Amino acid sequence: MTVRTRIAPSPTGDPHVGTAYIALFNQCFARAQGGKFVLRIEDTDQQRSTPESEQAILDSLRWLGLDWDEGPDVGGPHGPYRQSERGDVYKKYCDELVEKGHAFHCYRTADELEQLREELREAGRTALKPSDLALPEEEVEKRRAAGEPYVVRMNVPESGTCVVEDLLRGPIEIDWGQVDAQILLKSDGMPTYHLANVVDDHLMEITHVLRGEEWINSAPKHKLLYEYFGWDMPVLCHLPLLRNPDKTKLSKRKNPTSILYYQRAGFMPEALLNYLGRMGWSMPDESEKFSLDEMLEHFDIMRVSLGGPVFDVEKLSWLNGLWIRELEDEQLADRLQNWLLNRENLLKVLPHAKGRMETFGDFAPLASFLAAGQLPLTEASFSANKLELDEQKKLLQFALWRLEALRSWDKDSIFQSMKALSQAMEIKLKDFNAPLFVAISGTTASFSVMDAMVLLGPDLSRARLRQAVDVLGGAGKKVLKRWEKEYASLA
Ligand code: GLU
Repeated sequence: MTVRTRIAPSPTGDPHVGTAYIALFNQCFARAQGGKFVLRIEDTDQQRSTPESEQAILDSLRWLGLDWDEGPDVGGPHGPYRQSERGDVYKKYCDELVEKGHAFHCYRTADELEQLREELREAGRTALKPSDLALPEEEVEKRRAAGEPYVVRMNVPESGTCVVEDLLRGPIEIDWGQVDAQILLKSDGMPTYHLANVVDDHLMEITHVLRGEEWINSAPKHKLLYEYFGWDMPVLCHLPLLRNPDKTKLSKRKNPTSILYYQRAGFMPEALLNYLGRMGWSMPDESEKFSLDEMLEHFDIMRVSLGGPVFDVEKLSWLNGLWIRELEDEQLADRLQNWLLNRENLLKVLPHAKGRMETFGDFAPLASFLAAGQLPLTEASFSANKLELDEQKKLLQFALWRLEALRSWDKDSIFQSMKALSQAMEIKLKDFNAPLFVAISGTTASFSVMDAMVLLGPDLSRARLRQAVDVLGGAGKKVLKRWEKEYASLA
């Protein structure tokens, strides 16, 4: 048997370090056994998926030094590797389930579903079962004849225990009582994750599914689908979730999570990949610094430990330092040039710096904030600004939310969105801009904050705003709730 693994990222946001972590382990697992590693794009959520996000995922995984044997960009015998291009396949298999009586058309309306959920809550139950959803036969006929929209749902047991085998965890017991009659096909004819994932893993001959532990609860549905189809189920292996230093699930509020951030902030791809390799895994000799080839050579999935691995930027920076020090000076010079210190970038910065320069010597201090990762900010950095510190903190958070929602990162879009926000908050643009200035450039005596954000790019700009909110004391759950409400009520 040829071992075949896969990653199946959904292109709905920034390329996440967690995706690279799962990819790394899949690649090592497959290649260590002479197998194949497949990349499939799960873009069935048409509202949230974008081609830009897909491209950024592929680019950043390649930047890290990962590569796959089959995928949307390299082709392969099991394509297409993008679920949006495989629509007919899912429909066919879904029809088969309905015919065999393993799935049913559900004509329940949104109002009815809400009502059913309410009843469920009152009864202290969690999952909607086929018996809850059933309608009298004539009612189904009536709705069908009227051409009302429906979804296809799978039949699931009412009670009992489902046992899922996990390569690292052994048997995991999950109560069927928690598992609902999952929607397989939405009313627009698109499959949900569960159906598409199982059908594709089967058709792509995947033998081992290594994915994040957040998918364990989906495993009973998948197991049942394999049984309904009469297919062998791949071996499941749920890797531990990456965590913030405070042990909560890794989140961008507490840690930069986009690979693009680490690239722009000047990390070496080898070091980031090395660090991800240390998430729950170690070399037999416990060495901290190792390359992808070395990891592959010694890879053994059974060495994964399940205690939540902590993704700590300080440790990563330390490791990155080791990698830098082992470069020849010539190599380091090339790296720095490729990263940022090249003519092309200089030409982008000069128009903003020139007017503020008297000597060449003024250039580096003026532009240094563009090459820094995080800035040495303190509360005092913000105290010369007109607004109260708490007001500045809120403003920075609101600006961050606006900028997170921004689709295109150009000066005009950034300016319009910030101007609209300042008006909605009824703050003069000058006072509004001051904290942004400090957060982005470390000082108010630099070039325009909008230009600076364009030059920094979205990942570093947002990370700096998050850092600034933190420096000003951050926001606890309660405050955040209040802010969210206020933010939502702004025009
Ligand atoms: N599309 C899922 C994700 O975004 C894939 C999960 C899996 O590997 O089954 O994580």
